[in-house]
Amino acid sequence: MSLAEARQHMLKDHLMARGVHDERVLAAMAQVPRERLIAPALYSAAYDDRALPIDAGQTISQPYIVALTAQELKLSPTDRLLEIGTGSGYAAAIYAELVSRVYTMERHAELAERARRHLTELGYRNIEVRCGDGTLGWAEHAPYQAIAVAAAGPVVPPALLAQLAVGGRLIMPVGGPDLQHLLRVTRSSPSTLTQEDLGAVQFVPLISDPER
Ligand code: SAH
Repeated sequence: MSLAEARQHMLKDHLMARGVHDERVLAAMAQVPRERLIAPALYSAAYDDRALPIDAGQTISQPYIVALTAQELKLSPTDRLLEIGTGSGYAAAIYAELVSRVYTMERHAELAERARRHLTELGYRNIEVRCGDGTLGWAEHAPYQAIAVAAAGPVVPPALLAQLAVGGRLIMPVGGPDLQHLLRVTRSSPSTLTQEDLGAVQFVPLISDPER
């Protein structure tokens, strides 16, 4: 199967068949070349419906989870989005197709640098990558209409909730090391947060800097 065929297979059998129906999200998933964000040795697996290893013991997220997150964040073209856990940069590229600006944070410097280089090579001009502890958020550009956390922890870090705009949506895997629930938190008024469970998932851990 060619990469183009594999990408079509991903769209139809992994995404649409499992409930991803947002046309803008499907168009973004059809657009971003996942193979350009992973090691060449993994090219043939680029559109497999699973996480794949990247450096520093981390993973590029499963396409279905990226698409589900993008859909359930209800992104609009004028949104500013904060992502915690840049990893390969794949999800950042998907989000960049859907919002006006993406701010993405990664604690591993080598991953941040590589993602920055790859995203520039792919022509993205609306993504800023910063190396740092994402549990503190990125106050400079807050508030965000959307926040996507790509690593799991026992609770949503308070700094991220503080940087969520009124009407903003945050999605994060919350739970223990082996199993989490993907939660969507919506700030429906300045003082009201509502929480919904989007299902069981498995992510790498969110590690804050004092634990390093
Ligand atoms: N969205 C990525 C998947 C990344 S996996 C992709 O599409 O490829 C989660 C990433 O979160 C890892 O790269 C890990 O290093 C990073 N991470 C974990 N804790 C973090 C923290 N406190 N701040 C920033 N990044 C963190």
